[in-house]
Amino acid sequence: MITLNDKTTIPQLGFGTYLVQPEETAAAVSSALEVGYRHIDTAQMYENEAGVGAAVAASGLPRDELYLTSKLSNAAHRPDDVRRTFGETLDRLRVDYLDLFLIHWPLPSRYDGDFVSTWKAMTELVADGRLRSAGVSNFEPGHLERIIGETGVAPAVNQIEAHPYFPNTAAREASLAHGIKVEAWGPLAQGAVLHDETIAKIAAAHGRAASQVVLRWHIQRGDIIFPKSMRPERMRENFALFDFVLTDREMATIDALDKGAIGRVGPNPGTFD
Ligand code: NAD
Repeated sequence: MITLNDKTTIPQLGFGTYLVQPEETAAAVSSALEVGYRHIDTAQMYENEAGVGAAVAASGLPRDELYLTSKLSNAAHRPDDVRRTFGETLDRLRVDYLDLFLIHWPLPSRYDGDFVSTWKAMTELVADGRLRSAGVSNFEPGHLERIIGETGVAPAVNQIEAHPYFPNTAAREASLAHGIKVEAWGPLAQGAVLHDETIAKIAAAHGRAASQVVLRWHIQRGDIIFPKSMRPERMRENFALFDFVLTDREMATIDALDKGAIGRVGPNPGTFD
Protein backbone atom coordinates (compact mmCIF):
# COMPACT_ATOMS: atom_id res chain seq x y z
CA MET A 1 0.00 0.00 0.00
CA ILE A 2 1.13 3.52 -0.78
CA THR A 3 -0.04 6.56 1.18
CA LEU A 4 -1.16 9.53 -0.93
CA ASN A 5 -0.91 13.24 -0.05
CA ASP A 6 -4.54 13.23 1.14
CA LYS A 7 -3.69 10.46 3.68
CA THR A 8 -5.64 7.76 1.83
CA THR A 9 -3.90 4.53 0.81
CA ILE A 10 -3.79 2.77 -2.55
CA PRO A 11 -2.57 -0.74 -3.46
CA GLN A 12 0.66 -0.24 -5.43
CA LEU A 13 -0.28 -3.04 -7.82
CA GLY A 14 -3.61 -3.17 -9.63
CA PHE A 15 -5.30 -4.39 -12.81
CA GLY A 16 -5.75 -2.21 -15.93
CA THR A 17 -8.70 -2.42 -18.32
CA TYR A 18 -7.77 -0.29 -21.36
CA LEU A 19 -9.03 -1.98 -24.55
CA VAL A 20 -10.86 -4.65 -22.59
CA GLN A 21 -14.06 -4.99 -24.61
CA PRO A 22 -17.26 -4.15 -22.71
CA GLU A 23 -18.70 -7.66 -23.11
CA GLU A 24 -15.44 -9.29 -21.90
CA THR A 25 -14.83 -6.98 -18.97
CA ALA A 26 -16.88 -8.70 -16.25
CA ALA A 27 -15.12 -12.03 -16.89
CA ALA A 28 -11.64 -10.47 -17.06
CA VAL A 29 -12.13 -8.45 -13.86
CA SER A 30 -13.64 -11.48 -12.09
CA SER A 31 -10.49 -13.45 -12.99
CA ALA A 32 -8.29 -10.61 -11.71
CA LEU A 33 -10.21 -10.47 -8.42
CA GLU A 34 -9.80 -14.26 -8.08
CA VAL A 35 -6.05 -13.93 -8.62
CA GLY A 36 -6.01 -11.39 -5.79
CA TYR A 37 -6.04 -7.95 -7.43
CA ARG A 38 -7.97 -5.45 -5.32
CA HIS A 39 -7.28 -2.29 -7.34
CA ILE A 40 -8.99 -1.86 -10.71
CA ASP A 41 -8.29 0.97 -13.16
CA THR A 42 -11.03 1.87 -15.65
CA ALA A 43 -12.22 5.02 -17.44
CA GLN A 44 -15.40 6.51 -18.82
CA MET A 45 -13.84 6.38 -22.30
CA TYR A 46 -13.09 2.64 -22.04
CA GLU A 47 -16.88 2.08 -22.00
CA ASN A 48 -16.37 -0.89 -19.71
CA GLU A 49 -17.23 0.53 -16.28
CA ALA A 50 -20.47 -1.49 -16.21
CA GLY A 51 -18.47 -4.70 -16.65
CA VAL A 52 -16.19 -3.71 -13.78
CA GLY A 53 -19.28 -3.00 -11.66
CA ALA A 54 -20.80 -6.38 -12.52
CA ALA A 55 -17.59 -8.22 -11.51
CA VAL A 56 -17.32 -6.24 -8.28
CA ALA A 57 -20.94 -6.99 -7.39
CA ALA A 58 -20.55 -10.69 -8.23
CA SER A 59 -17.36 -10.98 -6.15
CA GLY A 60 -19.18 -10.30 -2.89
CA LEU A 61 -16.05 -8.50 -1.65
CA PRO A 62 -16.67 -5.76 0.91
CA ARG A 63 -16.47 -2.33 -0.76
CA ASP A 64 -13.67 -1.19 1.55
CA GLU A 65 -11.42 -4.04 0.37
CA LEU A 66 -11.52 -2.73 -3.18
CA TYR A 67 -9.83 0.28 -4.72
CA LEU A 68 -11.63 1.60 -7.82
CA THR A 69 -10.31 4.27 -10.18
CA SER A 70 -12.07 5.86 -13.12
CA LYS A 71 -11.26 8.80 -15.38
CA LEU A 72 -13.24 11.69 -16.75
CA SER A 73 -14.12 11.51 -20.44
CA ASN A 74 -12.41 13.96 -22.77
CA ALA A 75 -15.93 15.08 -23.74
CA ALA A 76 -16.87 16.00 -20.16
CA HIS A 77 -14.40 18.70 -19.03
CA ARG A 78 -17.04 21.33 -18.31
CA PRO A 79 -17.82 21.47 -14.57
CA ASP A 80 -21.49 20.50 -15.02
CA ASP A 81 -20.41 17.52 -17.11
CA VAL A 82 -17.86 16.51 -14.47
CA ARG A 83 -20.61 16.31 -11.85
CA ARG A 84 -23.12 14.60 -14.13
CA THR A 85 -20.79 11.99 -15.58
CA PHE A 86 -19.24 11.25 -12.19
CA GLY A 87 -22.71 10.25 -10.98
CA GLU A 88 -23.13 8.03 -14.04
CA THR A 89 -19.76 6.40 -13.31
CA LEU A 90 -20.89 5.57 -9.76
CA ASP A 91 -24.10 4.06 -11.14
CA ARG A 92 -22.28 1.93 -13.72
CA LEU A 93 -19.79 0.74 -11.11
CA ARG A 94 -22.72 0.09 -8.69
CA VAL A 95 -20.96 1.89 -5.83
CA ASP A 96 -21.82 4.91 -3.71
CA TYR A 97 -18.28 6.29 -3.64
CA LEU A 98 -15.23 6.11 -5.87
CA ASP A 99 -11.67 5.81 -4.55
CA LEU A 100 -9.95 7.83 -7.26
CA PHE A 101 -11.19 9.91 -10.19
CA LEU A 102 -8.76 11.43 -12.70
CA ILE A 103 -8.90 14.05 -15.43
CA HIS A 104 -7.91 11.65 -18.23
CA TRP A 105 -6.10 14.21 -20.47
CA PRO A 106 -5.41 17.93 -19.96
CA LEU A 107 -6.60 18.81 -23.53
CA PRO A 108 -5.00 22.28 -23.44
CA SER A 109 -6.18 23.29 -26.91
CA ARG A 110 -9.67 21.76 -26.99
CA TYR A 111 -10.92 23.72 -23.96
CA ASP A 112 -8.51 26.70 -24.24
CA GLY A 113 -6.45 25.38 -21.37
CA ASP A 114 -9.43 25.50 -19.03
CA PHE A 115 -8.55 22.30 -17.22
CA VAL A 116 -8.32 24.47 -14.08
CA SER A 117 -12.13 24.74 -13.86
CA THR A 118 -12.33 20.99 -14.51
CA TRP A 119 -9.90 20.42 -11.66
CA LYS A 120 -11.95 22.63 -9.29
CA ALA A 121 -15.04 20.54 -10.07
CA MET A 122 -13.08 17.35 -9.34
CA THR A 123 -11.98 18.66 -5.93
CA GLU A 124 -15.61 19.54 -5.11
CA LEU A 125 -16.54 15.87 -5.55
CA VAL A 126 -14.13 15.07 -2.71
CA ALA A 127 -15.70 17.76 -0.52
CA ASP A 128 -19.10 16.16 -1.32
CA GLY A 129 -17.98 12.83 0.13
CA ARG A 130 -18.65 10.75 -2.98
CA LEU A 131 -15.00 10.72 -4.03
CA ARG A 132 -12.03 9.81 -1.83
CA SER A 133 -9.18 11.16 -3.98
CA ALA A 134 -8.97 13.43 -7.01
CA GLY A 135 -6.11 13.17 -9.44
CA VAL A 136 -4.98 13.83 -12.98
CA SER A 137 -3.55 11.89 -15.87
CA ASN A 138 -1.13 12.86 -18.62
CA PHE A 139 -0.38 16.19 -16.94
CA GLU A 140 2.93 17.79 -17.91
CA PRO A 141 4.88 19.95 -15.41
CA GLY A 142 3.28 23.19 -16.69
CA HIS A 143 -0.23 21.75 -16.37
CA LEU A 144 0.47 20.73 -12.77
CA GLU A 145 1.82 24.16 -11.91
CA ARG A 146 -1.32 25.82 -13.26
CA ILE A 147 -3.83 23.75 -11.30
CA ILE A 148 -1.83 23.90 -8.08
CA GLY A 149 -1.08 27.61 -8.49
CA GLU A 150 -4.70 28.54 -9.25
CA THR A 151 -6.53 26.28 -6.77
CA GLY A 152 -3.96 25.55 -4.05
CA VAL A 153 -4.89 21.86 -4.26
CA ALA A 154 -2.41 19.28 -5.58
CA PRO A 155 -3.74 16.11 -7.17
CA ALA A 156 -3.22 12.89 -5.24
CA VAL A 157 -1.72 11.15 -8.29
CA ASN A 158 -0.60 11.88 -11.83
CA GLN A 159 -1.14 8.85 -14.09
CA ILE A 160 1.41 9.15 -16.91
CA GLU A 161 2.93 6.93 -19.54
CA ALA A 162 6.10 5.43 -18.04
CA HIS A 163 8.18 2.34 -18.78
CA PRO A 164 11.86 1.59 -19.46
CA TYR A 165 11.72 2.93 -23.05
CA PHE A 166 10.03 6.19 -21.96
CA PRO A 167 10.43 6.78 -18.21
CA ASN A 168 8.85 10.24 -18.64
CA THR A 169 11.39 11.77 -16.29
CA ALA A 170 10.30 15.42 -16.51
CA ALA A 171 6.62 14.76 -15.71
CA ARG A 172 7.51 12.10 -13.14
CA GLU A 173 9.98 14.29 -11.24
CA ALA A 174 7.70 17.34 -11.32
CA SER A 175 4.89 15.19 -9.86
CA LEU A 176 7.06 13.78 -7.09
CA ALA A 177 8.43 17.27 -6.27
CA HIS A 178 4.82 18.43 -5.64
CA GLY A 179 4.14 15.40 -3.39
CA ILE A 180 2.05 13.73 -6.10
CA LYS A 181 2.44 9.95 -6.50
CA VAL A 182 3.07 8.63 -9.98
CA GLU A 183 0.92 5.97 -11.60
CA ALA A 184 2.75 4.49 -14.58
CA TRP A 185 0.38 3.61 -17.41
CA GLY A 186 1.57 1.23 -20.10
CA PRO A 187 4.08 -0.20 -17.60
CA LEU A 188 5.11 -2.84 -20.16
CA ALA A 189 5.06 -0.26 -22.99
CA GLN A 190 1.94 -2.18 -24.10
CA GLY A 191 4.19 -5.19 -24.69
CA ALA A 192 7.05 -3.39 -26.52
CA VAL A 193 9.66 -3.97 -23.78
CA LEU A 194 8.97 -7.68 -23.43
CA HIS A 195 11.40 -8.73 -26.16
CA ASP A 196 14.27 -6.55 -25.00
CA GLU A 197 17.57 -8.48 -24.75
CA THR A 198 18.78 -6.61 -21.69
CA ILE A 199 15.54 -7.37 -19.86
CA ALA A 200 15.77 -11.01 -21.00
CA LYS A 201 19.24 -11.36 -19.42
CA ILE A 202 18.11 -9.93 -16.11
CA ALA A 203 15.01 -12.13 -16.21
CA ALA A 204 17.14 -15.23 -16.84
CA ALA A 205 19.40 -14.34 -13.88
CA HIS A 206 16.35 -14.34 -11.59
CA GLY A 207 14.50 -17.23 -13.24
CA ARG A 208 11.63 -14.80 -13.89
CA ALA A 209 9.56 -13.62 -16.87
CA ALA A 210 10.57 -10.41 -18.66
CA SER A 211 7.21 -8.89 -17.66
CA GLN A 212 7.95 -9.52 -13.98
CA VAL A 213 11.36 -7.83 -14.21
CA VAL A 214 9.89 -4.71 -15.82
CA LEU A 215 6.99 -4.56 -13.35
CA ARG A 216 9.38 -5.08 -10.43
CA TRP A 217 11.48 -2.15 -11.72
CA HIS A 218 8.38 0.06 -11.42
CA ILE A 219 7.62 -1.26 -7.93
CA GLN A 220 11.18 -0.50 -6.74
CA ARG A 221 10.93 3.03 -8.21
CA GLY A 222 7.90 3.45 -5.94
CA ASP A 223 5.35 3.98 -8.72
CA ILE A 224 1.81 2.57 -8.83
CA ILE A 225 1.07 0.14 -11.70
CA PHE A 226 -1.88 -1.81 -13.12
CA PRO A 227 -0.72 -4.00 -16.00
CA LYS A 228 -3.44 -5.35 -18.25
CA SER A 229 -3.84 -8.90 -19.50
CA MET A 230 -6.85 -10.95 -20.51
CA ARG A 231 -5.17 -14.25 -19.62
CA PRO A 232 -5.43 -15.55 -16.05
CA GLU A 233 -1.92 -17.09 -16.17
CA ARG A 234 -0.44 -13.70 -17.10
CA MET A 235 -2.57 -11.98 -14.46
CA ARG A 236 -0.99 -14.36 -11.94
CA GLU A 237 2.51 -13.78 -13.32
CA ASN A 238 2.06 -10.00 -13.12
CA PHE A 239 0.81 -10.32 -9.55
CA ALA A 240 3.90 -12.25 -8.32
CA LEU A 241 6.29 -9.33 -7.84
CA PHE A 242 7.02 -9.29 -4.15
CA ASP A 243 9.27 -12.32 -3.71
CA PHE A 244 12.37 -11.12 -5.58
CA VAL A 245 14.46 -7.96 -5.66
CA LEU A 246 16.44 -6.29 -8.46
CA THR A 247 19.92 -5.09 -7.51
CA ASP A 248 20.86 -1.40 -7.77
CA ARG A 249 22.96 -2.33 -10.77
CA GLU A 250 20.04 -4.08 -12.51
CA MET A 251 17.82 -1.07 -11.78
CA ALA A 252 20.45 1.23 -13.35
CA THR A 253 20.79 -1.07 -16.37
CA ILE A 254 17.02 -0.87 -16.96
CA ASP A 255 17.08 2.93 -16.40
CA ALA A 256 19.62 3.12 -19.26
CA LEU A 257 17.09 1.68 -21.76
CA ASP A 258 15.44 5.16 -21.96
CA LYS A 259 14.93 6.09 -25.63
CA GLY A 260 13.56 9.57 -24.96
CA ALA A 261 10.47 10.84 -26.78
CA ILE A 262 10.65 8.17 -29.50
CA GLY A 263 10.08 5.57 -26.79
CA ARG A 264 6.50 6.83 -26.24
CA VAL A 265 3.67 4.47 -27.14
CA GLY A 266 0.99 7.14 -26.61
CA PRO A 267 0.49 10.74 -27.75
CA ASN A 268 2.27 13.80 -26.35
CA PRO A 269 -0.14 15.36 -23.80
CA GLY A 270 1.14 18.85 -24.58
CA THR A 271 -0.42 18.70 -28.05
CA PHE A 272 -2.99 15.90 -27.82
CA ASP A 273 -6.58 17.07 -27.88
P1 NAD B 1 0.53 -2.58 -20.53
O1 NAD B 1 1.88 -1.97 -20.55
O2 NAD B 1 -0.07 -3.01 -19.25
O3 NAD B 1 0.58 -3.77 -21.59
C1 NAD B 1 -0.54 -4.56 -21.85
C2 NAD B 1 -0.19 -5.59 -22.91
O4 NAD B 1 0.97 -6.33 -22.49
C3 NAD B 1 -1.33 -6.59 -23.01
O5 NAD B 1 -2.08 -6.31 -24.16
C4 NAD B 1 -0.66 -7.94 -23.10
O6 NAD B 1 -0.65 -8.34 -24.45
C5 NAD B 1 0.77 -7.72 -22.70
N1 NAD B 1 1.07 -8.44 -21.44
C6 NAD B 1 0.60 -8.16 -20.19
N2 NAD B 1 1.12 -9.01 -19.29
C7 NAD B 1 1.92 -9.86 -19.97
C8 NAD B 1 2.73 -10.95 -19.59
N3 NAD B 1 2.82 -11.34 -18.31
N4 NAD B 1 3.41 -11.60 -20.55
C9 NAD B 1 3.35 -11.21 -21.84
N5 NAD B 1 2.61 -10.17 -22.27
C10 NAD B 1 1.89 -9.51 -21.35
O7 NAD B 1 -0.44 -1.54 -21.31
P2 NAD B 1 -1.80 -0.81 -21.00
O8 NAD B 1 -2.91 -1.78 -20.83
O9 NAD B 1 -1.95 0.24 -22.04
O10 NAD B 1 -1.53 -0.06 -19.59
C11 NAD B 1 -1.99 -0.54 -18.35
C12 NAD B 1 -3.22 0.22 -17.90
O11 NAD B 1 -2.94 1.62 -17.79
C13 NAD B 1 -4.38 0.19 -18.90
O12 NAD B 1 -5.01 -1.06 -18.97
C14 NAD B 1 -5.21 1.31 -18.38
O13 NAD B 1 -5.92 0.92 -17.22
C15 NAD B 1 -4.13 2.35 -18.06
N6 NAD B 1 -3.88 3.30 -19.18
C16 NAD B 1 -4.09 4.62 -18.96
C17 NAD B 1 -3.88 5.56 -19.96
C18 NAD B 1 -4.09 7.00 -19.70
O14 NAD B 1 -4.09 7.81 -20.63
N7 NAD B 1 -4.29 7.40 -18.46
C19 NAD B 1 -3.42 5.14 -21.23
C20 NAD B 1 -3.20 3.79 -21.43
C21 NAD B 1 -3.42 2.88 -20.40
